[in-house]
Amino acid sequence: MTTTAPHAHTAPAASRDGHARRFAGAVSPSTSTLTPLDATEIRLTDGFWAEKQALNADVVLRHCEDWMERIGWTGNFDRAAAGLGDPSTPWEHSGIEFVDSEVYKLLEGMAWELGREHDPALQARYDALVDRVAAAQEGDGYLHTSFGRAWQRPRWSDLEWGHELYSMGHLLQAVVAAERTGASPRLVEIGRRLAEHLWTVFGPEGRVAICGHPEVEVALAELGRALDEPRWIELARLFVDRRGRGLLGQIEYGAEYFQDDVPVRDAGVLRGHAVRALYLAAGALDVAVETRDDELADAVRRQWEATVATRTYVTGGMGSHHQDEAFGADHELPPDRAYSETCAGIASTMLSWRLLLADGEARYADLIERTLLNVVLASPRDDGRAFFYTNTLHQRSEGVEPDEDELNARALSSLRAPWFEVSCCPTNVARTLASVEQFFATRSSDGVQLHQYGSYDVDTVLDDGTPLALSVASGYPLDGRVEVTWRGDVEREVELTLRVPSWADGAPATVVLPDGEVRQAQGSTTVVRRRFSAGDVVVLELPVVAEWVLPDPRIDAVRGQVAVQRGPLVLALESVDLPTGSVNDVLVDTTVDPVTTSVGARVELSRSRTPASGWPYGRAASTAGSLGSVELLPYAAWGNRGPSTMRVWLPVDDLEA
Ligand SMILES: [Zn+2]
Repeated sequence: MTTTAPHAHTAPAASRDGHARRFAGAVSPSTSTLTPLDATEIRLTDGFWAEKQALNADVVLRHCEDWMERIGWTGNFDRAAAGLGDPSTPWEHSGIEFVDSEVYKLLEGMAWELGREHDPALQARYDALVDRVAAAQEGDGYLHTSFGRAWQRPRWSDLEWGHELYSMGHLLQAVVAAERTGASPRLVEIGRRLAEHLWTVFGPEGRVAICGHPEVEVALAELGRALDEPRWIELARLFVDRRGRGLLGQIEYGAEYFQDDVPVRDAGVLRGHAVRALYLAAGALDVAVETRDDELADAVRRQWEATVATRTYVTGGMGSHHQDEAFGADHELPPDRAYSETCAGIASTMLSWRLLLADGEARYADLIERTLLNVVLASPRDDGRAFFYTNTLHQRSEGVEPDEDELNARALSSLRAPWFEVSCCPTNVARTLASVEQFFATRSSDGVQLHQYGSYDVDTVLDDGTPLALSVASGYPLDGRVEVTWRGDVEREVELTLRVPSWADGAPATVVLPDGEVRQAQGSTTVVRRRFSAGDVVVLELPVVAEWVLPDPRIDAVRGQVAVQRGPLVLALESVDLPTGSVNDVLVDTTVDPVTTSVGARVELSRSRTPASGWPYGRAASTAGSLGSVELLPYAAWGNRGPSTMRVWLPVDDLEA
């Protein structure tokens, strides 16, 4: 992004109201090319994203809270607290061994929501939950409901599978949110005590070990930033450097499953379990930034590039193996077997955001946009009460509606389910939507950069004290017009940097300046530099039209097929939009361009006729008849109209050729 040089910045000591310490959002590096905005500096105002955030605040947070209360996951903390004086008497632990982490992600989401909009009722629920977690912390700072009591497995006895440090990592991320929003000094104190304990057990004088599921690395690095404590960053560095040296035991999926096969700085691509790999890479980049370790940062960059080039679905989804939830080999991206876990989409966004802050390059914001709109937002149902865990690109059978009162296996249902036995995704969606505006804009010494589009206000102050106030208004992602209105005079020349999404490279994007001059917006960003006055308007016009997307021919599973993208939205064919039948035997006529509609696009479809011999191989199949013009809708919205079949990639009708 332009020529902005990296510069150190310091977070403000207090917000403008002088009360809570509102530092930047979830990520606040001590040095970066771009500076994140804090919760008081950016605010969604209305439209698409504000509605998603309101759904999260009004429904999703409560849904997660109610489910975990009902099935005893929150109650684990109460039972652990009651048993503190008598660790030998068993009590019933609800859920699998890492359900603590879901309570922590809920706490994180609640804190970001409180930082955004102070709701006394939510604060009371949050405080009560913090108290229950606090009561379960042991005298030495250890906090986990599944390990360490006489009747449980000993502490740190199952680092491969126990998720002990993973769960604690999510607690520490909740602590970061509590600190930066001022939501709970009590939770911050819990986090300090836990971090001290981890330093004693795993620090330079401690045990040389790592957790089977990375997460504590990214959490400790940020905790160190938030509490200005270099020891937590050092502990994150130790965990990152120890991985890839075979410290974890042999498992059937091989050491690459938990990235213990190759040291982070030597790896060329992300591999193994996708969520683990992405959380680890995010933590490694944080460590690299804080320790000025350019070699490590370059390694993470290289892995991001290779992974995007060869191991990413058109939706931005990552991970094609169900069995080990892993990235497959290069170009192994079958649409009907896509695992594409919602959490992997969120972890990918976490990684890309850190790289964007470090390097300032729009390609990272491009992937954030693709992933937020086509993976993360695909997870919650329209009513916010059910979620996709996996995000297939081709649903072959209609499946059945899941029981709204039962726990679901993670990938069992073809429709969104209210809760899962392993329920990492709903709480991850909750914490992400509660803080999603943090990904939208940044500042530098020269001005402000808009990375994501929608309707929001930015009120920030540059390092030299220059205040900037502007409002962004857009019907994005359905509409490509982005209107930026300056609300105050700016004392000096500054730069307004607008991302030109990579999907817009086929048709010209234009910028209209306050004086009416119209410019072509070329490249990945366009920069308007001037001394803005109150009322000045800059308009970016992005060409939101439906276009064919062709796959790299090495992605064998979709060779001979096309997808349709409408601006940033990947579209999908759902059987409820067909006159009859399923999506499995459709063909698309690519000689007729897709017609852009208000929310999707129409394409010409027909059905294929295959031999009736009972043997699905032989001479070429033929076209059986036209289905006419059929509407494709945004992929993220599929599955909201009852059981259906669905596909993103459409086989091209060239059977007669
Ligand atoms: Zn998940």
